[in-house]
Amino acid sequence: MQRTDYCGRLTAHDIGRRVTVAGWVRRRRDLGALTFVDLRDASGVIQLLFAGDDPALAAGHTLNREDVIAATGTVAARGEKDVNPDMVTGEIEVRVEQVEILNRSRTPPFLVDGDGSDTTEETRLRFRYVDLRRDRMQRNLRLRHRVFKGMRDYFSEHGFIEIETPVLTKSTPEGARDFLVPSRLAPGRFYALPQSPQLFKQLFMIGGIDRYFQLVKCFRDEDLRADRQPEFTQLDLEISFPHGKDEIFALLEGMTAHLFHEIMGIELSPPFPRIPYREAIARYGSDKPDLRFGMEIHDLSAIVKESGFRVFDAAVARGGKVIGINAPGCAKYSRGTIDKLQEIAVAAGAHGLAWIKVEEEPRTPISKYLSTDVMSGIISTLEAQHGDLILILAGTEIEPALGAVRLEIARRENMARSEWNFLWVTDFPLFERDEDGGLTSEHHPFTAPRVEDIPRLESDPISVLSDAYDLVLNGTELGSGSIRIHSRTMQERIFKLLGITPEEAELRFGFFLQALEYGAPPHGGFALGVDRLVMMMAGERSLRDVIAFPKTTTGVCPLTEAPMPVAPAQLDELGIRLKQNG
Ligand code: ASP
Repeated sequence: MQRTDYCGRLTAHDIGRRVTVAGWVRRRRDLGALTFVDLRDASGVIQLLFAGDDPALAAGHTLNREDVIAATGTVAARGEKDVNPDMVTGEIEVRVEQVEILNRSRTPPFLVDGDGSDTTEETRLRFRYVDLRRDRMQRNLRLRHRVFKGMRDYFSEHGFIEIETPVLTKSTPEGARDFLVPSRLAPGRFYALPQSPQLFKQLFMIGGIDRYFQLVKCFRDEDLRADRQPEFTQLDLEISFPHGKDEIFALLEGMTAHLFHEIMGIELSPPFPRIPYREAIARYGSDKPDLRFGMEIHDLSAIVKESGFRVFDAAVARGGKVIGINAPGCAKYSRGTIDKLQEIAVAAGAHGLAWIKVEEEPRTPISKYLSTDVMSGIISTLEAQHGDLILILAGTEIEPALGAVRLEIARRENMARSEWNFLWVTDFPLFERDEDGGLTSEHHPFTAPRVEDIPRLESDPISVLSDAYDLVLNGTELGSGSIRIHSRTMQERIFKLLGITPEEAELRFGFFLQALEYGAPPHGGFALGVDRLVMMMAGERSLRDVIAFPKTTTGVCPLTEAPMPVAPAQLDELGIRLKQNG
């Protein structure tokens, strides 16, 4: 019996046709002489009717959930009472004449058509092949495919070619730990899985490729969170002779607009707003600000200057600030809720959180420190109204802590407008200080400093800005990129500032430094986290719901049980001895 039609594609137009459908039994209902079976395939569900006592139909009464069958019969209109308006094929059924059981299924570990409440994610991942039959997973993976296709179409049309880069390679620093692969042929040596194809795409530019992109797996050994996976997919791209970052922005804006138009029927309106890093931190306390709601941070230092409140004065005296936000309508918050906000601020590095409930008579634990003038200055700067709650932090670099409070309030109050808020964050610092006081790259070591800042590289490196940029969607970082260094001298200068000795630079990046001497054109690029974008487009909260076979937060694949111990003989071949077995 060969399938003639997909279950979900049959309609009333097919009434009278003899068809063969094939798929999985969604459920069976026995009503005496009549047996109804809902049959599911990739396209949807159709009702099969087994009626009469023809022995060819006997198997119909024995069907169980997830059995795989093929059935031949005639498409018919359902009895009026039996019409199901919630089902695409709810007006029709197939009156079965012949059925073949292609394979039986063991009782599935959870209901494929359930809402998932009868199982755990661990079980779903262990039986992923059953889970993949669920509508939601089918929808997500199809969406993922359309995103891939949309990206490939767009970049192909814009003169890019997709080229693969090696998976067994050498370390590419992107700020994470490497996954290592031991070499059998060269015992004691290791490949690293790429954290990104960064150096290879730069080599493509030196190699005259001009415009490269790739949908590529990257590997980063980090502590995992819901929105991280140890292996993830990036849209990676690079162009030569860019018209500054504007050209890269325009390409990504065009691509995103194309995807949203094609897939979601949504018209985005590029160009996306740009906000310099410093301003993002000052106004929103974040380098990935969520602008779907206001609650901007304001600097209150000048207003509280002569308040005489020790905490405020000390902060300003030490070169810090007093900053505040106004949470509209939040004067209703209980002490307990405000304590929770305070915990968030403290966890993000603040010492405490001051508050003012804006009421007839403003209420605040610090009332005795604030004169009426200072109080009304704060209220008017923050444009607070009756019923609002003002939150104030004092100290140095406390914007991120107030930013965290801002996000928490927006979450509690459901403030985010339902929209697709894309923006660029630009002008990142080139370096940041690491714990030991040394310099590390804010993006990666191949990012170009802004030309006008180059003279300060050695004298005041922390003040140097770079040509790096991030794309942010609704407060989530979707991707980053930069204009690159394309001269060996500058690359060596940056390595030196990063504390990489010439010997180490030669060992780790010698091949790349050499390539920079053979005609490296100016170039720049970007990489976008595809899993994350698909997750957001799908309205999912976890990356695992848009990846076919993801890992758990402990880096395990419950289906295959990877990672696994290996046979001693395999280790022996690699010249590896474990410190201890365990
Ligand atoms: N290689 C960078 C990353 O993976 C992106 C880029 O600079 O193009 O984050």
